[in-house]
Amino acid sequence: MALAQFHIYTPQDFQQYLVNTVFSRSIKMIQNHHTWEPNYSSLSANQGEMYWLESMRDYHIHNNGWSDIAQNLTTFPSGNIGLCRPINITPAGIFGANSGAICIENLGNFDAGHDQMTLPHKDNIVFLNAVLCIKFNLKPVKEQVVYHHWFDRTGKRFPESVVNNNQVGNQQKTCPGTAFFGTNTITSAEANFFPLIDNKIKQLNETPAPPITSRIVNASVLNVRSGPGTSFPVLRTLTQGTEVSVYTTTNQWSKISNTADEWVFSSYLS
Ligand SMILES: [Zn+2]
Repeated sequence: MALAQFHIYTPQDFQQYLVNTVFSRSIKMIQNHHTWEPNYSSLSANQGEMYWLESMRDYHIHNNGWSDIAQNLTTFPSGNIGLCRPINITPAGIFGANSGAICIENLGNFDAGHDQMTLPHKDNIVFLNAVLCIKFNLKPVKEQVVYHHWFDRTGKRFPESVVNNNQVGNQQKTCPGTAFFGTNTITSAEANFFPLIDNKIKQLNETPAPPITSRIVNASVLNVRSGPGTSFPVLRTLTQGTEVSVYTTTNQWSKISNTADEWVFSSYLS
């Protein structure tokens, strides 16, 4: 099977991608990890974010024997989001607990005394968890937004008291780190991480639809199609000089109705 095609998004562009994409896999859980390596000092070598996605993929295939990069998504200290293994494909995040899960690898070493998470990175992690919750109808609760550290090596959850009393020991990694939004216990997630995701969900749900842009048709005849691509049927045509409202765009296509699926090729608008 072909390897995943990586894409690096700003948070807003990733949100657009999510809104405009239909996924066939049913998602019940969001996993949060840290990469440990590469970490913030790896990035200072200045090889760019794409380099580190390729580097992780190479490691996952050659050292771990996986088919592709393990994670569906990677967050970067810059605030960017990397789309890795397609969301429709089960990740290799927590052994025994990957079915129905999306795996987020947060790039860095967030064990106490190591990387100091940047503010854009913090915002980006909260934002990403929030938009995924909205898309897949999940809530920031311990059953649905999880840390690797909460599962044993067979994929079974540790009793809550074991996690909260720091008794996991070497039965599992500290992932996503002993200093991840406080620490890696369930109590800490409930006190320090989930409320931030909750607030972000509320904020995103209250935000009015993005401002509508007005554009002019610059082709003599422009096809209006029922989807963003030439494979979708033509519904009607527009003539040069017609003014249209653009509600959203995806891959060079503009949606010109707020209520119906009506799309035109963006190059023919100015
Ligand atoms: Zn992990």
